[in-house]
Amino acid sequence: MKQIVVLGAGYAGLRTVTQLQKKLKDQAHITLVNREPYHYQATMIHEVAAGNIPTSKVTFDIQPLLNPSQTTLIVDTVINVDPDARTVQLANHDDLHYDYCVLAVGFISETFGIKGAEENSLPLTNVKQAEAINQHIEEQMKAYQKDHNPNDLKIVVCGAGFTGIELVGELADARPRYAKLAGVNPEDIHIEVLDAAARLLPMFNDKLAHYGISLVKKLDVTVTTQALIQEIKPGVVLYRKAGEGDDQPLHQIQANTIIWTTGVSGSSVIAKAGLKQRRGRVMVTGHLTDPDHDDLYLIGDVAAVMPPQGKRPYPTTAQIALSMATFVAEDLTARLKQQQRPSNYVYHSQGTVASVGDTRGLGTTGSLSLKGYPASALKKIIVDKSLLELGGMKLMMKKGRFDLYH
Ligand code: FAD
Repeated sequence: MKQIVVLGAGYAGLRTVTQLQKKLKDQAHITLVNREPYHYQATMIHEVAAGNIPTSKVTFDIQPLLNPSQTTLIVDTVINVDPDARTVQLANHDDLHYDYCVLAVGFISETFGIKGAEENSLPLTNVKQAEAINQHIEEQMKAYQKDHNPNDLKIVVCGAGFTGIELVGELADARPRYAKLAGVNPEDIHIEVLDAAARLLPMFNDKLAHYGISLVKKLDVTVTTQALIQEIKPGVVLYRKAGEGDDQPLHQIQANTIIWTTGVSGSSVIAKAGLKQRRGRVMVTGHLTDPDHDDLYLIGDVAAVMPPQGKRPYPTTAQIALSMATFVAEDLTARLKQQQRPSNYVYHSQGTVASVGDTRGLGTTGSLSLKGYPASALKKIIVDKSLLELGGMKLMMKKGRFDLYH
């Protein structure tokens, strides 16, 4: 029997497995490897980071979604893939051999080599890091009761991309709780977000992006643009404003919580595997395989897919990760059943929605622009639909978002 190995049970990997289980009978055995026994919904980890929802709301066990006669789950860390030998090296298990491999190990934080960023700021790329951020913030708030250090009350988010903006919206919602822990008024909690760009939220048109930033500012979040971060020291962000010379002193912000959301790259496993990649992403073929290894698929945040006539790959999102997984399940099924393979992968975006806290947001779907509450409700409906497709009504009812009415 052919052996399919799927690495990573995020949006891309888990969807691949559940679809393959439906399409294949005894043509192949699937081995799914994931670092944890649970799946986390990465699109909601900023809510966990702010402490607005518990981890249990964004995680669920993987095993109940698997058919044990078709799929074996191995909970372990992928150390390396040898695409020529068709083997996968794991931290605590014997090597795996595959006929087909689907690499879907997701994203890691990108520091762009900025000094001190790794050591002195908190990344937000998985649910454990999100929990660590929440714990850190709570500790600073409690510390304020004892030491009255004003920096305990300051939270700085480096990077005002999609994640940074969604995060500050959640942090602003959490202010009353932080204030209670610190024994201060909510307005004493200072939240600031910095970015090198002059124009934020580039995925939206000018009008919508302007609306999004005005939402954030209304929540009393300081938004500093054209801030080129030079270094992160313990408790200090050092930056230069665009246009300022090297001879001018750097600007400083002191804060005891510094969160790093300037960008992400694909998993370090991709470079280690010796694949031709850039920032942990491989420019995949029309069938989402590695250009040099037709039996190795790369999907989700480790893949770069160029739009027709495009100059830059599509942004990596859960939406495209899920769509790639559906395609790979079809392609693999056709290969295993020796049927005609689908023609090249084409991506149809359904739109983009960003939340700014629990009840506000902005987004586009088709030609429609959404603002405020409808955008926030749509975001929750997208989560519910994704859960329904993955694990049916039971999973959606258990983990879905039904807090639509406010
Ligand atoms: P992931 O979801 O990251 O899954 C990777 C899996 O692999 C995880 O289970 C991980 O534990 C496992 N893994 C990683 N390394 C290893 C290893 N070495 N060994 C074993 N297992 C490993 N996208 C949208 O479309 N819409 C949104 O609204 C949106 N909002 C977002 C908000 C935030 C705060 C963030 C951070 C991201 C958001 N995204 C959004 C982007 C989206 O989350 C990612 O594009 C998506 O998660 C990528 O899916 P993936 O399956 O490639 O990787």
